[in-house]
Amino acid sequence: SKPVYAFEEADSKNRMLLGGKGAGLSEMTRLKLPVPPGFTITTEVCNKYYDNNKKLPKDVMPAVMKNIAKMEKKTGKKWNSTKNPLLVSVRSGAAISMPGMMDTILNLGLNEKTVEGFAEQTKNPRFSWDSYRRFIQLFGKVVFGVNDEKFEHVLDSAKSKQGVSDDSKLNVESLKTIVTEYKKICEEHTKRKFPDTPNEQLVLSIEAVFKSWMGERAIVYREKNNITKDIANGTAVNVVTMVFGNMGDDSATGVVFTRNGHNGKKEMEGEYLINAQGEDVVAGVRTGLSIELLKKDMPKSHKELSNACAKLEKHFREPQDIEFTIEQGKFYLLQTRTAKMSAAALVKTSVDMVKEKLISKERALTRIPAQQLEALLHRTMDESEIKNYKLLAKGIPASPGAASGIVVFDVKKAIELGDTGNKVILVRKETKPEDVPAFFSSEGILTSLGGKSSHAAIVSRGMGKPCIVGCPELKINYDNNTCTANGITIKERETITIDGSAGTVYIGDIPTVEPKVTKDFEQILEWAQKTKTLGIRANADTPEGAILARKFGGQGIGLCRTERMFNGSDRINLFVEMIMAENIEERSKILTKLGQLQKSDFIEILKAMEGYEVTIRLLDPPLHEFLPNPEELVEKIQKLESSGDTNEINKTKIILKRARELAEINPMMGHRGVRVGITYPEIYEMQIKAVFEALVELTKKKVKAHPQIMIPQISSIAELNHIKKIYDRIKKDTETKHKMKLKINFGTMIEVVRAALTANELATTAEFFSFGTNDLTQGTFSFSREDVEGKFLPEYMEKELLERNPFQSIDVNGVGSLIKIGLAAGRKLRSNMEVGICGEHGGDPSSIKFCHGAGLTYVSASPHRIPIAIVAAAQAAI
Ligand code: ADP
Ligand code: MG
Ligand code: MG
Repeated sequence: SKPVYAFEEADSKNRMLLGGKGAGLSEMTRLKLPVPPGFTITTEVCNKYYDNNKKLPKDVMPAVMKNIAKMEKKTGKKWNSTKNPLLVSVRSGAAISMPGMMDTILNLGLNEKTVEGFAEQTKNPRFSWDSYRRFIQLFGKVVFGVNDEKFEHVLDSAKSKQGVSDDSKLNVESLKTIVTEYKKICEEHTKRKFPDTPNEQLVLSIEAVFKSWMGERAIVYREKNNITKDIANGTAVNVVTMVFGNMGDDSATGVVFTRNGHNGKKEMEGEYLINAQGEDVVAGVRTGLSIELLKKDMPKSHKELSNACAKLEKHFREPQDIEFTIEQGKFYLLQTRTAKMSAAALVKTSVDMVKEKLISKERALTRIPAQQLEALLHRTMDESEIKNYKLLAKGIPASPGAASGIVVFDVKKAIELGDTGNKVILVRKETKPEDVPAFFSSEGILTSLGGKSSHAAIVSRGMGKPCIVGCPELKINYDNNTCTANGITIKERETITIDGSAGTVYIGDIPTVEPKVTKDFEQILEWAQKTKTLGIRANADTPEGAILARKFGGQGIGLCRTERMFNGSDRINLFVEMIMAENIEERSKILTKLGQLQKSDFIEILKAMEGYEVTIRLLDPPLHEFLPNPEELVEKIQKLESSGDTNEINKTKIILKRARELAEINPMMGHRGVRVGITYPEIYEMQIKAVFEALVELTKKKVKAHPQIMIPQISSIAELNHIKKIYDRIKKDTETKHKMKLKINFGTMIEVVRAALTANELATTAEFFSFGTNDLTQGTFSFSREDVEGKFLPEYMEKELLERNPFQSIDVNGVGSLIKIGLAAGRKLRSNMEVGICGEHGGDPSSIKFCHGAGLTYVSASPHRIPIAIVAAAQAAI
């Protein structure tokens, strides 16, 4: 292709070649909108420039000059003329907008001679000399890299010398002096004469834009935003005829969104400034006026602006973000691009644009980044209030939503205070399964250690409670009941507010606002439900979770973790007693009681999900997780010894002995899951019985319940068959006892690598598979998921040894292959076999895309992520 295209001749669909800004300018030109004449030097030239040892290819400048000639013709102005000079801006623009990559050079074409011509043409020498000094300043900064402060210093001393405080009051004499000084600064910096001809200035500017592509700012920006070569390769350069919003009170400049970017309403949103240049609005040098006022100020221009907005929206089928300038009453457009909007605005505009027949339902769904919907599903801090509060610390956002409450460090105290009506924020160094009862009683959780897949993070997300983890500056002192960050100490019972979406911790009680599932959001979800083919189920362990999941559109429960049901404050003690039991008889007695509690929970959950499958996973974690940790017990004994309560001391010593017996070096790969079920069969028996009994009761009441039983941590068919025998016996007994047939599918989790590789064997017994992708990822990489984030994972990402965190987004090549192997083996034997995934990946849009493509039956996600999963599944199907 050619190196240079005039706006009117470019193929404006080719954003890769022209960059976003160039494509927009050319598209607007083709739509006959008022764009100042200009041209684009392509991104291809940028790449050639680098291949060519940072030299412009030979054909570029001749093509540029040809296009300058075209601009002369259109504008009636002349390049380098001392009477009526053509001035231009030089602007960068890659295929993906990269704000702040490079400053734009304005007023190029001015020198000692043309500035006089410009003064004559505008009949305004003050304005012309001011334009000239602005040019040198920008050019010096951008092209030569002169520190802007040096220029500002000259400007300030000129102002004080003349005795004025405002730039606009500087007279021609002062401005001329400034120009001389500015040039001196540049010449000292470069050790060469300031380039005087517009041609020299233009070449240097073009090269500066190309250089900025590999500038540090740009490289970091691309890295942070995952901008790879296939979506933006090099920057284009746009050369545009200057128009002036600062030519008096009939001139202005502004930026508008064609629709409101916060709430999506169909109204222009933006601001403008009279007698100013574009940079002033963008940089916030002066506060702009609300765009409605333009209607009164300049009715004709306002009309042109709103017509242009309508035309652009109709053309791009997306709300636009526009820059405009009015020069002495004449209206110009200088930029257009897709408007970046809040989640609420995306939803509303999607529904509105379908109604307006501007876009199809498919497009309405695909234009919303599913992840962004998260913001609509949780309480948020009242934006207008935040500024009145002090930030205490910042951590890793682990579970979204905002919550305020009193700080409590002790787990027991958190339960006490929470259950008696106080709003509590549980603040810990880290959390353990035995702390979970306190989660129920708290509004939010803050831990100073841990990463996104730490215990606190995963449990909070499952419960939909705001949570922040990994907050190293927060030093917690359990002995004094205080925590300190940024030199501020917070005592127990002082109030803080946490925002689990941003990771911010504030001091005080910031008002929060309830999320609203608006009519528009419901509409989007309805369209998505109809479009998707992948099932969306919930990870839910409580009746409340099941009800919430159903409300959000979840169809079934893919993972009900029974151990979570033991964590309620009314039963954790019972469970501990069960673990402490010295013989089977004692243990069985307690298990009967626990069985009754589980049965009543199952009944409630199954009722809430009537008509849908509910997959109940038998106990998974190792038993010692339910006991206090040995260190704490030792401390407790020491404290008790000073008070002398021998009874209590002995009791605690027994617990300590058991806790030590059960402790393992590597519990994640230890005595857990089916291994517990095999060594303590009475536990699994109790659980299987509870499921059958729950089904009996519901069947009698004519409730359509579909429980399924799932065994965790299976690595061989022998293990699975061992448990299947227990299941068969209980099934037969229950059926005989109640004289009814009971259908409960028996299946396995696949979360051990060996299980995936021997899925053909497992499928002979398992009626369904569910991939536990958290543990499967852990096993596939041999990365301990509790530890990676605090240790090496961030560095792996930084060094690009891993593209994404495999615990957040399925590792398609590794873990994905295991899923495909397992799936194929299962379906070979049972062609309609239900195969799903549970685990954190179930709520991640790119993992959902993979699952859709692989042909899984469903994904299971925590209740709050279900709407995101539904939209992501629809997008995968489009
Ligand atoms: P950015 O990519 O940072 O938005 P732009 O290239 O859009 O940079 O330019 C920065 C500012 O300069 C904008 O406010 C724009 O309107 C203004 N500007 C750019 N070119 C011209 C021009 N030819 N005439 C008047 N103003 C211009
Ligand atoms: Mg711009
Ligand atoms: Mg697991």
